[in-house]
Amino acid sequence: MSHLRVIVIGSGSAGLTSALYAARANLAPLVLEGHEPGGQLTWTTVVENFPGFPEGIMGPELMELMRKQAQKFGADCRYETVTEVDLSKRPFRVVTSTDPKDPEAVKAEYTADALIIATGASARTLGLDKEMHYMGYGLSTCATCDGALYRGKQVAIVGGGDSAVEEATFLTRYASKVTLIHRRDSLRASKIMQKRIFENPKIEYAWNRGVESYLGTDEPYRALTGARLHSTTGEAPIDLELDGLFLAIGHTPNTKVFKGQLATTPEGYLLTPTALAWRGTVAPEGILDKMANYGSATSVEGVFAAGDVVDTHYRQAITAAGSGCAAAIDCEKWLESQEGSHG
Ligand code: NAP
Repeated sequence: MSHLRVIVIGSGSAGLTSALYAARANLAPLVLEGHEPGGQLTWTTVVENFPGFPEGIMGPELMELMRKQAQKFGADCRYETVTEVDLSKRPFRVVTSTDPKDPEAVKAEYTADALIIATGASARTLGLDKEMHYMGYGLSTCATCDGALYRGKQVAIVGGGDSAVEEATFLTRYASKVTLIHRRDSLRASKIMQKRIFENPKIEYAWNRGVESYLGTDEPYRALTGARLHSTTGEAPIDLELDGLFLAIGHTPNTKVFKGQLATTPEGYLLTPTALAWRGTVAPEGILDKMANYGSATSVEGVFAAGDVVDTHYRQAITAAGSGCAAAIDCEKWLESQEGSHG
């Protein structure tokens, strides 16, 4: 069993940025990349809002560059997924598999003085046929990332919560028409957001509808061309012609493996002082007292968290990268504070 000073769990922009900073602090981090190496950005096409790339950069390429940069300074990136952790005592124990679904897959076990958790959140999808085929080719789970690609085009967004409403409004900056598809006839979004969207003349509504199937083509290039909508009130299905379709039906934080060991929100997002401040709430009494000086600290001393696994608010590649940097700095300072102590 290998022992590491720091293990970074996750390889999106938060994980790889924390790996870069930890590597440059001579901590030789091990990066356990997980089942979706590169994270959510590997699902997008052009990223135009990551500073430093005025012409934009393809999401997978950006993540590859981040990985290379972390490796250049000594990060050890492995395609392993964490299947079990023991955070009850230090050093922490981490068990991995190269494929958790395959009982024959190679397993490994590590211990570490500190952990940085950057496992992200997965955008919920509808689970329909060809979903992954069109993802990044007209289908998207991130309007902020991809909206600008649809200037003058017709798009739709699925969902009725704050995200769907906010993103529908954002999309009207570019698209000629935005259809909001919602499975009920009233929105879940906050009243103020509803007022805003109902005042926007570019937005139309497909109430009591859901996506039944994706319509698209593979020739001359792969592209989503529309969606067939079923009715939740017994009406006939309709086909909507579209250049882009966005899913905004919520996110699920990837924290299952830490369940019961770290404090989370009711939805499963990890609690850190910074995340609590973003939400405008105060830390639950006692939980974070020991770690008050570390914005990325979780409820277990020595375990830090960054990126979408703590963030229900900003969810941008650049904010995740920034919080990954902060977590690595917190982690380094905390390790330094432990030197000479046996804690
Ligand atoms: P959400 O509030 O959970 O809303 C998800 C929406 O998607 C709901 O309208 C839901 O329909 C719909 N939906 C879920 N599963 C579906 C499925 N399988 N098929 C079709 N529709 C489905 O998620 P969110 O909008 O991402 O917001 C998450 C949290 O972040 C919320 O607390 C929200 O207030 C917050 N947020 C705040 C802001 C802001 O304040 N600026 C912006 C974004 C998000 P039903 O309504 O029928 O359940």
